Amino acid sequence: MIEKILIANRGEIALRVLRACKEMGIKTVAVHSTADADLKHVLLADESVCIGPAPSSESYLNVPAIIAAAEVTDAEAIHPGYGFLSENADFAERVEESGFTFIGPKADTIRIMGDKVSAIRAMKAAGVPTVPGSGGPLGDDAEENMRIAREIGYPVIIKAAGGGGGRGMRVVHTEANLLKSIQLTKSEAGSFFGNSEVYMEKFLENPRHIEIQVLSDGQGNAIHLGERDCSMQRRHQKVVEEAPAPGITAEQRAQIGAACVNACLEINYRGAGTFEFLYEDGHFYFIEMNTRLQVEHPVTEMVTGIDLVKAQIEIAMGQPLNIKQEDVVIRGHAMECRINAENPARNFMPSPGKLERLHLPGGLGVRWDSHIYTGYEIPPHYDSMIGKLITYGNDRDTAIARMDVALQEMVIKGIDTNIHLQREIMNDHGFCEGGMNIHYLEHRLEHLV
Ligand code: ADP
Repeated sequence: MIEKILIANRGEIALRVLRACKEMGIKTVAVHSTADADLKHVLLADESVCIGPAPSSESYLNVPAIIAAAEVTDAEAIHPGYGFLSENADFAERVEESGFTFIGPKADTIRIMGDKVSAIRAMKAAGVPTVPGSGGPLGDDAEENMRIAREIGYPVIIKAAGGGGGRGMRVVHTEANLLKSIQLTKSEAGSFFGNSEVYMEKFLENPRHIEIQVLSDGQGNAIHLGERDCSMQRRHQKVVEEAPAPGITAEQRAQIGAACVNACLEINYRGAGTFEFLYEDGHFYFIEMNTRLQVEHPVTEMVTGIDLVKAQIEIAMGQPLNIKQEDVVIRGHAMECRINAENPARNFMPSPGKLERLHLPGGLGVRWDSHIYTGYEIPPHYDSMIGKLITYGNDRDTAIARMDVALQEMVIKGIDTNIHLQREIMNDHGFCEGGMNIHYLEHRLEHLV
């Protein structure tokens, strides 16, 4: 049993984890920076510890301070949330070495999945479909690299093995640019990520982003919870997410889901995780695995009825998974809009500041995951996402209509938000049709903003 959990994160996800702990009768420790003393979950936690000044590098990424906070409060486990240290293998290792339970996979698993070349290799070996590519790091042999590209077929994309956050990638359309692009990406990768290894993949021109949620207990039991469509993106950042993905058949879901479950068993995965795929012309192509809870996890919770944070904690406690694949039923449709403190009309400039007035939506099928409250001041130091509005309905049209009504009801005064833009997306013809690709929103933004 775990009786006390330290939440090594902030904002809405820290509150999400706190709520699950409370429901399970587990005590909570909030850690926060000096700028975050009045965060909602800090006020609601059983204990709180200030771990450093406002910059994340000195607080939410400060490993010794977080471990020390767990020691002084006698917490038994640490939940990393998403972002910050959640996919840092060294942190997971330090947590376990210090005698605490890390609520997530083993450090070695995080390490393998954090390196895209080793992740792709592991997935291929487990039978997960990957993008046609070099299958390993590119060497210095120019002839060989040109041969690989010709075999894959242009356009190709050169990607850094250690890349992340949409950086360290270069698309190559013709052979004339190939060798120069490999060199450039290598040297950038070396300076950005401290690892100059790069590999080559077929560049898919109009894919959708579809990902599979899994739960695996590390004791030989794994299930998938269906897919999410996160194709509505701006600068590789997801803006709207939904489950299930429009047009994906039960047969396709079962097939790709089974491949992911098999991979979990092969690598003896422990915890919640997400397999990200590009989807084009009816085929799935693995791009990466996220070894943590994701921002968009609520849409999966809404259509399956499974509490993912609770499941993470139970797995961390060593309990065998008590849900079987046949018990997972995808029912209805869920939509999530990320609500950001930003001004879409001014190039999405962040808009921190005090929330003067707040009216929140409600009603059947409406969920609001957020830490904000009237009088709260959004600090300028962190991500601009201030909440997630999630709606659920028997079908996709109902989920969209509910989202539109909920967005209309929502009033946030004192700062700029993207609420209006989200309403325009909910009323956009292509979006309502469903199944748009990852470039669709960027194209539409020229007209919407
Ligand atoms: P990161 O870890 O930086 O997010 P990913 O491998 O997940 O990197 O890729 C990020 C995004 O880059 C994808 O969502 C997609 O838009 C684009 N991308 C990556 N690989 C390809 C590819 N082979 N073809 C087309 N687009 C790609």
